[in-house]
Amino acid sequence: MSVDRGMLALPFYDERHRELAERIVQWCDKNADLWTDTTDPTGTADTAAPADPERVVRSTLRALGEDGWFDWDGDHRSLCLAREALAYADDLADFAYSIQSLAATPLARHGDEEQRRRFLPHLASGALIGAFALSEEGAGSDVAAIGLAAEPDEGGYLLNGRKAWIANGTIADLYCVIARTGDGPGPLGLTAFLVPASTPGISVEPVRLIAPRPFANLEFTDCRVPAENVLGGRGKGFAIAMDLLDRVRMTVGAAALGFARRAVDAAYLRARERAIYGGTLLDVPGVRAAFADAEVKLNAAALLVARAAWETDRGTRRAPKDSAIAKLYATERAQEIVDACVQLHGAAGLVGGSLPERLYRQIRSLRVYEGPSEVQAAIVADALDVRARVRGAGRVRGAGR
Ligand SMILES: Cc1cc2nc3c(=O)[nH]c(=O)nc-3n(C[C@H](O)[C@H](O)[C@H](O)COP(=O)(O)OP(=O)(O)OC[C@H]3O[C@@H](n4cnc5c(N)ncnc54)[C@H](O)[C@@H]3O)c2cc1C
Repeated sequence: MSVDRGMLALPFYDERHRELAERIVQWCDKNADLWTDTTDPTGTADTAAPADPERVVRSTLRALGEDGWFDWDGDHRSLCLAREALAYADDLADFAYSIQSLAATPLARHGDEEQRRRFLPHLASGALIGAFALSEEGAGSDVAAIGLAAEPDEGGYLLNGRKAWIANGTIADLYCVIARTGDGPGPLGLTAFLVPASTPGISVEPVRLIAPRPFANLEFTDCRVPAENVLGGRGKGFAIAMDLLDRVRMTVGAAALGFARRAVDAAYLRARERAIYGGTLLDVPGVRAAFADAEVKLNAAALLVARAAWETDRGTRRAPKDSAIAKLYATERAQEIVDACVQLHGAAGLVGGSLPERLYRQIRSLRVYEGPSEVQAAIVADALDVRARVRGAGRVRGAGR
């Protein structure tokens, strides 16, 4: 199974999580045709490789929506379990689910009643496709450097500038855009806007990625957005973006677990069947050690993801740090595991379109998006500084008594 039942038995989870994990695994099995290309007329292509990522994401979103998988009032443990199972099944299945959630969560958490009524049910049904547009060529990790301008104009705003590396950028119907309204320097001057893709003044430049996904840069030229499309209030853009990223980071760790488990399962099957030295590859001590190493890393990553999701669901102050730890550890270890599994396949794992080769390309971006590993490490270190300051203050107070 793509999720670990032993892990689900731990007190981090309750019955509804165990039931959800079973259901999403079954859903993935039942809907595998959505991301499996069966249209190749020559029969020579790898039949598991999607021919058209946009079509796959659209149809997967529809199916997820129709079957009620989008619940943005739900908990983070459920989100993580869904991502883990979907990532195990397919890169684009996870992509469809996670980017819709990334786009809808700010609206669900910070939208007013009218904004939620207008957009949320359609995002939840998959009829509308969402995208979250934060990054720019000059402002990725450094969110406070965002430059896309939103100037007040006739009771609304005019947006001018660019966004870069936007997932779902080519197919989105609704962008959540973080722009500079200039109310203060750096993080203080940012505001979130809901911008329908049909708004005049938006041009979309598709970007080709290492693993094919709908992806684009966006250019805004005198793009007029009414004041009622400001999300969460003027000047709240940075807080909205950070709130979102803190909440979703551990879900990236969960997806990394899904990719890594899939790689290990495939490599294990291969090692069991590969005849070598008069036995099988799985009889070779060094190979057994490689599987043991992967198992240790998978367990540690799963525990960190579970803890971060659990702390986030409890609303504790340490949750952002735990979320960063889970993303950092799970994505870095998943990269190592997938690489080791390619190695265990030998040349077969390097053939274009083979499962190990695709996982090798697909896992790479998880160490970069929603904050590179180094930024996660900086978040953890900053949290240590805060703890040290609190302890230091305690000592000073104690010494004075
Ligand atoms: C597949 C994918 C999907 C994405 N989807 C979206 C999306 O939907 N919406 C969106 O807005 N953006 C999206 N992005 C953009 C993503 O969030 C940024 O790429 C990411 O935040 C890093 O920014 P950057 O690429 O500008 O790298 P930079 O900020 O230029 O950083 C480059 C490198 O510098 C190092 N570095 C940076 N900061 C530090 C630090 N504090 N300490 C030490 N080293 C550091 C790291 O090695 C880092 O990888 C996506 C990116 C990818 C790859």
